[in-house]
Amino acid sequence: MQKQTLSFQAEVKQILHLVTHSLYSNKEIFLRELVSNASDACDKLRFEALDNSALYEDQPNLEIRVSFDAAAKTITIRDNGIGMSAEEAVAHLGTIAKSGTREFMAKLEGDQKKDANLIGQFGVGFYSGFIVADRITVESRRAGLKPEEAVRWSSDGTGDFEVEPITRAERGTDVILHLREGEEEFLKTWKLKSIISKYSDHISLPILMRKEEWDADKAEYHLKDEWETVNKAAALWTRPKSEVTDAQYQEFYKQISYDSDAPLAYTHNRVEGRTEYTQLLYIPAKAPFDLWNRDKRGGVKLYVKRVFIMDDAEALMPVYLRFVKGVIDSADLPLNVSRELLQESRDVKAIREGSTKKVLSMLEDVAENQKDKYAAFWKEFGPVLKEGIGEDHQNQERLAKLLRFASTHADEGVSFADYVGRMKEGQDAIYYITADTLTAAKNSPQIEIFRKKGIEVLLLVDRVDEWMLSHLYEYEGHSLQNISKGAVDLGKLQDEEEKKKAEEAATAFKPVLDRLKETLKERAKDVRVTTRLVDSPACLVMEEGDMSAHLARMLKQAGQKAPESKPILEVNAEHPLVKRLDGDARFDDLAQILFDQAWLAEGGQLEDPASYVQRVTRLLTPA
Ligand code: ADP
Ligand code: MG
Repeated sequence: MQKQTLSFQAEVKQILHLVTHSLYSNKEIFLRELVSNASDACDKLRFEALDNSALYEDQPNLEIRVSFDAAAKTITIRDNGIGMSAEEAVAHLGTIAKSGTREFMAKLEGDQKKDANLIGQFGVGFYSGFIVADRITVESRRAGLKPEEAVRWSSDGTGDFEVEPITRAERGTDVILHLREGEEEFLKTWKLKSIISKYSDHISLPILMRKEEWDADKAEYHLKDEWETVNKAAALWTRPKSEVTDAQYQEFYKQISYDSDAPLAYTHNRVEGRTEYTQLLYIPAKAPFDLWNRDKRGGVKLYVKRVFIMDDAEALMPVYLRFVKGVIDSADLPLNVSRELLQESRDVKAIREGSTKKVLSMLEDVAENQKDKYAAFWKEFGPVLKEGIGEDHQNQERLAKLLRFASTHADEGVSFADYVGRMKEGQDAIYYITADTLTAAKNSPQIEIFRKKGIEVLLLVDRVDEWMLSHLYEYEGHSLQNISKGAVDLGKLQDEEEKKKAEEAATAFKPVLDRLKETLKERAKDVRVTTRLVDSPACLVMEEGDMSAHLARMLKQAGQKAPESKPILEVNAEHPLVKRLDGDARFDDLAQILFDQAWLAEGGQLEDPASYVQRVTRLLTPA
């Protein structure tokens, strides 16, 4: 390879521009990012060396060294990790492999504070060096390559970078920052030390700096050739709880999640017994931008006896808890465990079950003791948690208690327990209705009788609700009833007189009903008299066991096939419009309009709107 000048990928240029022009707060995080890359590089070496111990060469002790040269105005971060080949340097430091760049830019542009913390969240941490440096030089030799196969990468962070071959005896990487004018504050031992202890204390490798000595003659500090470890070098989760402060737990969370908000809750435990592991798990307060992206990275990191094995080990957490962050360190798994092996391991199954229970306990605790916080959590993660009702039967009951709904009594925050507490005397079932929007649900004709009687109805308007409730049949012995399905059975909630009246109406109304059935036979499965309506003349319901109109619509919108099941038309025999049907010359028009309007009130779209309009026009035009 010869010396070459190459151009950054367009996205990198944009990022560099943003980094150098708008990240003013939290500049110091550049050191955290570069130390974290150095630590990752050591983890990677350790991992590759599991199969090929020759990669250690004669240096099995992995470490990071941070030094500076006040005269040259440089800071150097050195590691003896995996290193980079020339091709890797070009690929990793000149392009961005991960998705999310656009979100990063959008977030940064919208962010008033221009918080540099965001940079690590999007996997572009290396470029944060350019916040303080106007040139970065990287010298690296990949483990296993010859000294002559090393590389020097260099750039001023505008449009281009250079790469050239060099000879380098040491394995690993030096990142040399040539500080910008005005950034001299970072050329001090105490300053660098304090940044390291703030952000990188938990890094499990030693971070070394040169010792300093006071030179009384010159009245200044003098750097000695001796190095000392400046971090605790013990992974945070391996330390006893009593020795870790709340601030340290919070800082560690920021490091692994790149979330600038504090977590909602965390739990740190050492589990002993048949399988031994340590868990440090966090529930974030805010959803990440890629919550709905199922291939997103992050989540729970797996360590085996303190050796980093993999990020986002999905086997350790059920999918519906994919927002949980943290570390699980197992004492039993083999170091060379693969993702496939994880899926089958009984130890992993035990870890997953144990960790799931811990997360649920944390949520229960917040729901019980910090209601506002839980409400905020529910807004962010409620829809994800609902997936658990269908996916995790073992914990279904606990999850059901964590659910929150809107209802005819309150627009949000209603739990099943709240609902049950407000049930009317004689009420057995929990009533709910599904609809596209809260307004549609609130105004739906089906709930009129419930309103009149003051019976609470849960209003379910989230996309996953209907699916979720197809997996949940009851809550503490109370069956869950969709009031837009089947005939309403108010049971003891209806008095004898009402029941009798309804029966009489049905008999008296029979001839009209028969005519309606005949007229609407293409559209309605049945027509019957109901007592559930108060102000509306008619409504549509699905037969028990048929798919609700709401779900059928959602499936169609998503381009999927939905079974064509006809609804049942229920009419309010007390309503003037319905009473008028008998003997009216325009019976057919009225019947069709009755059906169309019930359909519209449900949130449906008419298949033949023109005919509907013609019929209404005929009615409105004096004969
Ligand atoms: P991330 O760390 O999220 O991957 P960065 O922008 O921090 O993103 O780093 C980009 C890539 O550059 C890393 O994934 C890695 O491949 C490479 N890299 C950076 N620093 C080092 C290092 N010290 N040793 C080896 N590779 C490194
Ligand atoms: Mg990084």
